[in-house]
Amino acid sequence: MNGLVGDYPLTLQHLLWRGERLHTHKEIITRREQGIHRITYPAMIQRAARLAGALRRLGIGPEGRVGSLAWNNWRHMELYYAVPCMGSVLHTLNARLHPDQLAYVIEDAQDQVIVVDRSMLPALERIRDRIPGVRQIVVMSDDRQPGLEGALDYEDLIEGESSEFAWPNLDERQACTICYTSGTTGNPKGVLYSHRSQLLHAMAALAADLVSVSEQDVILPVVPMYHVNAWGLPYAAGLSGANLVFPDRFLADGQVLCELTNDERVTILAGVPTIWMGLLQYLRQSGKRLPTVRFVLCGGSAAPPVLIEGMDQVGLTILHAWGMTETSPLGSVARVGSWIPEGTTMAARLSQGRAGALVEVRLADLSSDSEVPWDGESIGELQCRGPWVASAYYKHAGPDRFTDDGWLRTGDVASIDPDGYIRLVDRTKDVIKSGGEGISSVELEGLIMAHPKVREAAVIGLPHPKWSERPVAYVVAGDDGPPSAEELREFLEAKVPRYWLPDEIRFIDEVPKTSVGKFDKRALREDAVPLTGV
Ligand code: AMP
Repeated sequence: MNGLVGDYPLTLQHLLWRGERLHTHKEIITRREQGIHRITYPAMIQRAARLAGALRRLGIGPEGRVGSLAWNNWRHMELYYAVPCMGSVLHTLNARLHPDQLAYVIEDAQDQVIVVDRSMLPALERIRDRIPGVRQIVVMSDDRQPGLEGALDYEDLIEGESSEFAWPNLDERQACTICYTSGTTGNPKGVLYSHRSQLLHAMAALAADLVSVSEQDVILPVVPMYHVNAWGLPYAAGLSGANLVFPDRFLADGQVLCELTNDERVTILAGVPTIWMGLLQYLRQSGKRLPTVRFVLCGGSAAPPVLIEGMDQVGLTILHAWGMTETSPLGSVARVGSWIPEGTTMAARLSQGRAGALVEVRLADLSSDSEVPWDGESIGELQCRGPWVASAYYKHAGPDRFTDDGWLRTGDVASIDPDGYIRLVDRTKDVIKSGGEGISSVELEGLIMAHPKVREAAVIGLPHPKWSERPVAYVVAGDDGPPSAEELREFLEAKVPRYWLPDEIRFIDEVPKTSVGKFDKRALREDAVPLTGV
């Protein structure tokens, strides 16, 4: 017998009604060069309705793809509302991707229209002739000068449209947004979120044991809106009615963050450890403090002890969380359990935390795949499943990343203690996390090995106080003797973004290998001399 409760679809359209009817006092606030921009939720939603009308007119139908290449600002928020709620799919693009990858993901996702902040236009212009599927580029700027032939101005586009859009009825399983992973080997893979997954994820962010977002909060997501939907915080804010404060392109500036936080009475900050190391340094130097902040949500890379302790000293609490693009990203949060005695809480705070409600985790032995006990010592691959955890990649890329019984293989190696606290010890996939951005060691190796004077190259990330990690290349010379480090750097400069360039190039006689002949990066890491000057 079925229950008799409304089978009401879990779609992001709930945010439209709540925003218009209930969040009338609440605002989306953006720091711009010319000063602060403020817009209420109802006004933002009316503009989103105009945008939906304009996109329809540009031929974006049900399931049509719209790319966004934009900073954290109110116009990007309008895209977050308009595109999914009209039944189309928003593809948030990372301007820091290598041009080859950017072109690849745009074509792979079949983006038809791209809406771009003018300051990010150069990234798109570089690949304009490699994205034939894109029919129209729309440029967002304050002076209404698109600055690109054939492009439309965003404000001109939405100006003439009605603020009453007939939002269609949607199935909760329908796709709403797509993000691509950093791409460890080969091309990035698309994670296609559904309305249901995103709404449930937003509800989870409201839970007291997870992020505890409430109407009373003022959230400042420093994490970019192109990185896993700014960790879902714009939707959590839209559901609860929390004010949102956006730093636009002044994402990493300690002074800007400090001023914005104090001026707008921010209660939740969210971003990667690198940003918080910078903010900590600024707070120490300036003597300023952020008394309104409840906690600083920190994820994407491991939060180092110096950060957690340093923040404690300036009156800020780090809330450490683990997640992935594939997990929307909220997977686990390091809240201190009620049974843990005061004065002994650091181990729990430093861990990657316990799985959030509705997310299940397990550990699989790295060779046999059998389940590993939660004894706090045995390690295995962390696997998870849940209603906002991907069950496949877009176009069935990388099927081996999912187990036969439907769990996601995270590629993270961890232990779990009897209380459920997860501790990440390594990654099976070796992505180097520099300032919250992934660098593919495998890709770098491939490029270095393309140099005529190189025989073998292995790249690992070594700890760096500012960037979390920086790449170091271990190079074995070919028969003609080694290239100089300068030669190699120049060789790479033309092929990768600047932040991918290895901090050091170390020449060795042979790369250590595993029993099956793969580069043994764990051995390299264990023997590695720390980065010079760090
Ligand atoms: P991405 O999909 O780019 O967000 O990267 C996800 C990966 O970032 C995870 O698989 C982890 O390797 C790493 N990661 C995320 N959060 C943490 C954390 N709190 N501690 C350590 N690594 C993390």
